[in-house]
Amino acid sequence: MAGSGKFFVGGNWKCNGTKESIAKLVSELNSAKLESDVDVVVSPPFVYLDQVIGSISNGIEVSGQNSWIGKGGAFTGEISAEQLSDIGCKWVIHGHSERRHILGEANDFIGKKSAYALEKGLGVIACVGEKLEEREAGKTFDVVFEQLKAFAEAISGWDNVVIAYEPVWAIGTGKVATPQQAQEVHAAIRKWLTDNASTEVASKTRIIYGGSVNGANSSELAKQADIDGFLVGGASLKGAEFATIINSVT
Ligand code: PGA
Repeated sequence: MAGSGKFFVGGNWKCNGTKESIAKLVSELNSAKLESDVDVVVSPPFVYLDQVIGSISNGIEVSGQNSWIGKGGAFTGEISAEQLSDIGCKWVIHGHSERRHILGEANDFIGKKSAYALEKGLGVIACVGEKLEEREAGKTFDVVFEQLKAFAEAISGWDNVVIAYEPVWAIGTGKVATPQQAQEVHAAIRKWLTDNASTEVASKTRIIYGGSVNGANSSELAKQADIDGFLVGGASLKGAEFATIINSVT
């Protein structure tokens, strides 16, 4: 833990759940014993946001999984940052690899969407990460820095941004990065922030890890100097396991 904020754990529920399963998950999270020194955020599918916002407690905040690049209007299928704020969301995820690589979102589009969301008062969970072939070609830092640069060029500051390093090869694969692999990239991201923003931004910004985090591997990862929390997919759908991950704060 090097970022000066609290440990931050996000649960990205992706396109999973039903009214019933989500009610059960929320009730498990509401009654879980959670470390108080952790910011916890869950990100349900859009259609269940209202249900979760109306029922979640235990200090847990709620995030959208995406938001539109500007003000709402004639944009079929989109959700605006204003709408997320209106129903009580505090956060939004941008740059997730599934949106980059399945939906084809480009760096500058992601940067602009993040800038708009920040302007409208949302916190942004800004995701970056390399594909397996990029890692194998020795391009991990180039890819991650290019993605960071696109955020930096669009936004007016890093307050309210949490950076999530999520190697694509680790997402949903069960193949978690080793604590050393993750720490190496987190330290490089922090150095990039020092060089391209300021030492203050570098020391304040939380850099969280995502990609096959579970209740068995989170505490070793959490011990790394530059890992300030997690973005959790699959394991965040199980209340008890997500609580274990939250409580792995060191
Ligand atoms: P995973 O997903 O934990 O299922 O690997 C992480 C993410 O996509 O944020």
